[in-house]
Amino acid sequence: MSTSGPRILVVEDERAISEPLAKLLAREGFAATVAGTVADALAEFSASVPDLILLDLNLPDGDGRDVAREIRSRSGVPIIMLTARGTETDRIVGLEIGADDYVVKPFSSAEVVARIRAVLRRSEAPGEGQVEPAGDPVVVGAMRIDPTPHRAFLGDQELDLSLKEFDLLYELARNAGNVVSRDEIMTRVWDENWFGSTKTLDVHIGWLRRKLGDDANDPHWIETVRGVGFRFAGGAGSADS
Ligand code: CA
Repeated sequence: MSTSGPRILVVEDERAISEPLAKLLAREGFAATVAGTVADALAEFSASVPDLILLDLNLPDGDGRDVAREIRSRSGVPIIMLTARGTETDRIVGLEIGADDYVVKPFSSAEVVARIRAVLRRSEAPGEGQVEPAGDPVVVGAMRIDPTPHRAFLGDQELDLSLKEFDLLYELARNAGNVVSRDEIMTRVWDENWFGSTKTLDVHIGWLRRKLGDDANDPHWIETVRGVGFRFAGGAGSADS
């Protein structure tokens, strides 16, 4: 497709879904590429990293979750899952593998385009027509987190974070020194549609710790407050310092 808009990789094996979806995206100014298998999806991704991925879970040669994990290990590119109707577990699983949002099949064209635009807006650099006011940068110790271009630095090294990891880090850091409860985090960082399990929060905390080089048993950044939530420390040492 010859449009120059944001590039969307659609990973979906059902042509009855992917073909009209690709046409719709082109009409809306996106450059859509369709991959119908796990192998195609990873090949397309390796050839050119898109701006956003729409990802079906059940693919003929494998599991969309493996695609998501593989992509997440290489990139923070936004992922929107295409889930079957009423499969709550799919949504929870999607969060755990690092998806940024989901749409439930069958979806309306208006809905999927709205989701795409919302996720792209959050990941977009400033100066591209974004008007939504973002918060102020937060500096804690050697960490600097700037929500406007969605970038976080530890010292002079930039952290490669997914949108959710970024939002989680920002939420904790702007409350540095205070405990943020699990409920507060789920409400502020995750869509209110995500009911029930907060296991995904622990998974994301684990990923963040790894990217910060933090150790859960001797945390310098993210302290677990058992049964309550998490506290962002200054990076210098544990609570007794
Ligand atoms: Ca499928």
